[in-house]
Amino acid sequence: MKFIKKCRVCPFNCGVDRKTKLGVCQAPDYIEISHSQIHFWEEPCISGVGEKLGGSGTIFFSHCNLKCIFCQNYKISQLNHGQKYSGEELFKLCLRLKVGGSYNINLVSPTSYSLYLKSFLEKYKNRIGLPIVWNSNAYEKEETIKSLNGLVDVWLPDFKYYNDNLALKYSKAKNYFQYAASNILQMRRCSPKDIFNKNGIMVKGLLVRHLVLPGQNEDSLKILKWIKDNLGKNTTISLMSQYYPAHHARKYSEINKKIASQEYQILINWLSDNDFSNVFIQDISSANEAFTPNF
Ligand code: SF4
Repeated sequence: MKFIKKCRVCPFNCGVDRKTKLGVCQAPDYIEISHSQIHFWEEPCISGVGEKLGGSGTIFFSHCNLKCIFCQNYKISQLNHGQKYSGEELFKLCLRLKVGGSYNINLVSPTSYSLYLKSFLEKYKNRIGLPIVWNSNAYEKEETIKSLNGLVDVWLPDFKYYNDNLALKYSKAKNYFQYAASNILQMRRCSPKDIFNKNGIMVKGLLVRHLVLPGQNEDSLKILKWIKDNLGKNTTISLMSQYYPAHHARKYSEINKKIASQEYQILINWLSDNDFSNVFIQDISSANEAFTPNF
């Protein structure tokens, strides 16, 4: 796979040779995977639902480039050194998930390995024969997203913040909104239409997630308004209420709590008042550590 001499894959622009020095993400110069499983609790158009529940073939990469202080997956995205995978080994893992019934291959926190995954998908995508889902935090570079055009089928960004101060405080990322917004627009250009198969599974398209944070409804409303103005009210949105104070969040009193049901309802009402019809909402009781896999 391609070797990165001066890594500038994401907006952190570390410029390090990952063979000898690690950047902000701590990812080495090869693919590291922490965990994989057939996941039944992604959105219905990703995992399926009811009799059509096939599951999503999730592959969790180690060393996410964002270090969110409330990350529910922090054990595998930030702390854990996963296992090294060659391209051939990753291909075999994809085939195992496919044989297990997965509807797609869901690359979770893939950003630090974008260049490697581009080479991997160029070689193996056709042989995998399932839709490829890019499940990222959107803190990426537009040229990277462009370079994955035709290799990724379904874009699944988590559009986290409108206010850059929140991004800096909770995820240590500068200019988050500017990057995320332009990347999501590029994702839409790469997959201009949402296409679903007979099982209701998205096989091409864009599904924008937004994790609602406690006390940050104003920020959430700005994100939703931006989506309406820039992507349109037909955009498929997943409004997530599953936040609970994980990882370091307990040290930040303002987010050391779950979101209130009234806060969530205000956002649901706004989407309804603005004629959004392709929206996934969660049961507020999903904000529970019990729903996070024990990695
Ligand atoms: S991928 Fe990692 S090393 Fe490369 S620029 Fe981003 S944070 Fe830095």
